[in-house]
Amino acid sequence: VPRKMIQQLAHKSEEPLHPEQERAVHSTEGPLLILAGAGSGKTRVMTARAAHLIQEKGVDSRSLMMVTFTTKAAEEMKHRLRGQLSPAQLNGLITGTFHSIFFKILLHERPGEWDPQRLLKQDWLKLKLLRESGVLAQMDPPVTSEAELSQALSIISRWKNEYLLPEHLSIRPLDTAEEQSALALYPLYEEAKQRGRWFDFDDMLIGCYQLLRTDETVRNRYQSRIRYLMIDEFQDINRVQYETVKLFAAPENNLCVIGDDDQSIYAFRGSNPQYILGFSNDFPTAQTITLEVNYRSRPSIVGLGYSLIGNNQARHAKKLKSFHGEDGENYLFYPDDEEEQASRIVDEITHQLAHGASADQMAILFRTHESARPVVERLWEAKIPFAFTGEEEPFYRKQAVRWGLGYLRLAKNPDDADALRDVLPTLYIAQSQWNAIRSQAILDDVPLAHVLPRLPGLKSFQKTQLKAFLAILDEVPKLTPAQALEFIYEDGKLRDYVKKKNKERPEQESQAATDDLQQLYGAAKRHETIDSFLHFVTQQLNRDRSGARQNAEPSVQVMSIHRAKGLEFDTVFLLDLVEGSLPHEYALDELRRGKRDAIEEERRLMYVAITRARHQLFVGIPQERFGRKTRVSRFIKEMAGL
Ligand code: ATP
Ligand code: MG
Repeated sequence: VPRKMIQQLAHKSEEPLHPEQERAVHSTEGPLLILAGAGSGKTRVMTARAAHLIQEKGVDSRSLMMVTFTTKAAEEMKHRLRGQLSPAQLNGLITGTFHSIFFKILLHERPGEWDPQRLLKQDWLKLKLLRESGVLAQMDPPVTSEAELSQALSIISRWKNEYLLPEHLSIRPLDTAEEQSALALYPLYEEAKQRGRWFDFDDMLIGCYQLLRTDETVRNRYQSRIRYLMIDEFQDINRVQYETVKLFAAPENNLCVIGDDDQSIYAFRGSNPQYILGFSNDFPTAQTITLEVNYRSRPSIVGLGYSLIGNNQARHAKKLKSFHGEDGENYLFYPDDEEEQASRIVDEITHQLAHGASADQMAILFRTHESARPVVERLWEAKIPFAFTGEEEPFYRKQAVRWGLGYLRLAKNPDDADALRDVLPTLYIAQSQWNAIRSQAILDDVPLAHVLPRLPGLKSFQKTQLKAFLAILDEVPKLTPAQALEFIYEDGKLRDYVKKKNKERPEQESQAATDDLQQLYGAAKRHETIDSFLHFVTQQLNRDRSGARQNAEPSVQVMSIHRAKGLEFDTVFLLDLVEGSLPHEYALDELRRGKRDAIEEERRLMYVAITRARHQLFVGIPQERFGRKTRVSRFIKEMAGL
């Protein structure tokens, strides 16, 4: 741990607690609800409470369980505790995320049943299992496209978190066609997993819940061990987690739950703020403590968050005022497009670093992953250390991007077999013709790309496309990479292919392809020659593989708003405050259909984002994004109280 951080921390915990915070620390017995706005010291109270129980009340640390929501928050909590308690005092304390704690218990209690190697960590692993196990053949109605399967899997995951098992669902009317597909897939997915003894994250929660519910010996053991239970970010708890928590907490119910319903942002995973709002109904003896001072942010930042969130209807109104008297400035800026937005942010970061700011006190936050690429690339070029943990597929490996890059590569080297394989579908040539191409090329002694028109039995639409393809090979080497991509898209008829694909596939998928190609164009504009652009792409792919910078030097944090929950930074840069990005297109669609839930969740996300900043907030509003004119996010007006 860098020395500076320890000093900062020591300094912070010297600040006296507010009387209400103090009261929360000392109310150790019975159920307790701390419901308060962002930055009001909820998490600080939670650690102070643990320290109080262990140091002042002599409680054995083994009988404390402290749950947080993200791995990052759990690390932060352990870090804060280590600042206050000795290793001996912390020994045996149960702390971590729900998933990590529940899984440890399962491994401990049922060692033979759970093999950590068989965890399906990502969606693509689930898809692979579905394909390889052969269960998809039994699906009725059949679903085959990757996008539809992913969507069905995410609905299944939400159901599991709500403890809706297949047998519960078959007697319940379903809302949409997507839910119908998900229900058809659900038992098959469970079967495929069980057969191979695979499991996913949701199974960890369900497994632990069922273990405690059905095994009285285990339940009694944990109930008598765990005497004090504290849960941070309680607004995002789901049903399975809540039911399990109640089992752990009984019979004493020294259960302290902490949260802010305005920061509930995981509804898509089955989280439900009703549990925090209804806590006093479930535990009628619960005390409620509210905290009304924000210690984190300057007054104007608190003000922006407060006026924004006031636009939500479904919420528990609270007071929140800033502790700080002195104010700083916040900035809205209007770059031409996403590339310029990235350059301006990196210029500002460079400037601040030169004036003594610490890189790890700066965060760049985004709503969706496609916002991240330009800033990550500019940071990399400027040699500024940054940490970016994207779980998405690297940009330059996405399908539509590979088409664009494939043409560029072939123009440079018509014998590039990988590139040719990438673009074959866009020429309406089936993979089965691939071998024919290879042997023909060898026979005729010409580069792979040039042999395509000689293939036997070509249909007229294939011939048209191939003519355009040969034009690409001729023209593109003379152009800049941006001109080349334009040529490929228009004259090379890639646009026609993307559009045709439109009709067969869901609307969204083709829009995504067009956006990806537009982004590729944006990235290409920064390079003079195709060679330098392709070289840059290779470097970026290698960087992605190595997982950005892993070393301990302080680094700028690039992350999604979802992951930033509970964290704080001196300076926060918010990307793409335009309609369709934040709020997300999905929420706008829902709103058009008269449903407000999604837009309110987007507003809560925006609220979480704003309230991460201590001193300074920069909000980017690009005039164009992915080559299209944008509209300023409605949240900007709402923040300004217009
Ligand atoms: P969030 O809702 O974002 O999770 P929170 O309510 O958990 O926020 P904390 O992270 O605990 O808030 O605290 C916000 C900041 O305020 C931290 O830097 C913390 O050290 C500081 N802080 C908390 N209480 C006090 C206090 N009484 N005096 C001075 N600083 C405080
Ligand atoms: Mg917190």
